Amino acid sequence: MQVENEKTRKVLIVGGGTAGWMTANLFAKQLSDKGFSISLIESDNVPTVGVGEGTTPYIKRLFESLNISEQEWMPECDATYKSGITFAEWSTTPGFTQYFHPFYSQHDSEAIEAFKQITRLRHHGYDVPVHPNDYFLQATLVKQGKLPFLQHDESGQNVYAYHFDAAKLGLYLAKVARSLGVKHIVDHVIRVNTAASGDILSVETEHSGEIQADLFVDCTGFSAMLIGKTLGVPFHSFKDNLLNDAAVAIPTKIDNTYSPQTISTAMSNGWRWEIPLTKRKGNGYVYSSQFQSKSSAESELRHILGDTILEDAQAHHVDMRVGRMDKHWHKNCVAIGLSQGFIEPLEATALQIVQISIEEFLTQYQRGNYTTQYQEYFNNGVNNVFEHIRDYIVLHYLTNSRAGSTYWATCRNEIKLSDSLQAIMEVWCQGEDLDAELKRQNITMYYSEPSWYVLLAGMGIFPSRNQNQMQTHEEANSFARKIRGRVLDIASHY
Ligand SMILES: Cc1cc2nc3c(=O)[nH]c(=O)nc-3n(C[C@H](O)[C@H](O)[C@H](O)COP(=O)(O)OP(=O)(O)OC[C@H]3O[C@@H](n4cnc5c(N)ncnc54)[C@H](O)[C@@H]3O)c2cc1C
Repeated sequence: MQVENEKTRKVLIVGGGTAGWMTANLFAKQLSDKGFSISLIESDNVPTVGVGEGTTPYIKRLFESLNISEQEWMPECDATYKSGITFAEWSTTPGFTQYFHPFYSQHDSEAIEAFKQITRLRHHGYDVPVHPNDYFLQATLVKQGKLPFLQHDESGQNVYAYHFDAAKLGLYLAKVARSLGVKHIVDHVIRVNTAASGDILSVETEHSGEIQADLFVDCTGFSAMLIGKTLGVPFHSFKDNLLNDAAVAIPTKIDNTYSPQTISTAMSNGWRWEIPLTKRKGNGYVYSSQFQSKSSAESELRHILGDTILEDAQAHHVDMRVGRMDKHWHKNCVAIGLSQGFIEPLEATALQIVQISIEEFLTQYQRGNYTTQYQEYFNNGVNNVFEHIRDYIVLHYLTNSRAGSTYWATCRNEIKLSDSLQAIMEVWCQGEDLDAELKRQNITMYYSEPSWYVLLAGMGIFPSRNQNQMQTHEEANSFARKIRGRVLDIASHY
């Protein structure tokens, strides 16, 4: 165990939500043996945000780097597997009223290329099968109610994510972090003190006095107590791009229809999630407060969930601050989690951004020999993550075809598009080479090529053509049938 002495660098993480505990674990893993002591303080009178149950496959890295097996953590957190997300009722185009955004498996490479070629033919007026669900393995497995891996496959190449109970995951990660030597303080921070240099010197607490540190991690959630309120780093709202700024969550009973997916269904002024856990189902309605009040959103959700709602379940309302900080690392403070920014949860990307931010911070902090040398590099990188993930989320709203709703019409016609997204839409709508455009913009590390194709094709976004004037393409049709047969064959082994 590291003995504290004058050379020990102190890290204080303020906030014990999922972001705080993920930070505590990954910092402890990488910095404890390098002369750092790590403490985490959380208030017992500021609750965690209490949502955040869906993930992307990136989260597997967290458990892998902590050497925690699924058998160990999943039962404690009521966790289930996730193969992707179904988007239902976002589009009204016949044949495209729902599609599945899969996590791609090692078996999908041929299907990905085939799907891209087929969509290009559709752009050029051929009547070919362009619904993504027919092409990808996970879509087929989900349809067949199968898990995203072979029972005895040791290859470790399976690509999937998880759903979990966020509160239970927080408790689990806290236990692991304490076992890694993280000091856990339960107290409320009442003030943050700064030095003449602008660095944070210490926090003052209700019961534990003043706590000093060399490096502070702001994990205080939407309040951004250190990075925003104390250091005054500006916040860039995404309200011109994304309208939703509120959510209401209500749990329901589990039923026997488990399938390893999140379902996102369009609602009158937003969308709702359905997330299967082992002991309950998570549900929430994400909406725009400009278009719907809290009570009406809750009623709409309650009406849909009906008598499946858990007895005594309370509706949990959350106001969302959607956007990002101008800088995520400023002076001797790095913000991780909702304090650094938030893109609404449509693709469940928040914890992925948390993890990327922690990993990248640790890389740059160590590369700069524990100085701020690579601060700007880090901030630019994280800002790019936010901007490009935001664009992919915006695309869902932009391509909706729901009629008779001011909210959905506003999403289609009035939301602001970045230059990057504008260019992508132009290329797609003109039937030009989308791969080349994504490559030119160098953005496939945020969302891979197939995800752009799946979204645009899945929503039925193609040049409108009279069905009778479309040409047949027998070669492409038989190729598509061949791919479909192969997918079904692979799925039959699961
Ligand atoms: C509606 C909604 C749905 C979401 N769905 C998903 C999803 O499906 N997938 C996903 O990846 N993410 C999702 N997220 C985001 C996810 O919930 C968060 O990224 C994650 O929970 C991390 O939150 P956090 O730890 O930053 O903040 P919080 O959970 O808010 O934690 C803040 C912590 O700071 C502490 N604190 C605050 N003030 C003080 C103080 N003065 N003194 C001491 N401690 C203090 C609190 O006690 C608490 O411990 C969703 C978010 C919302 C709003």
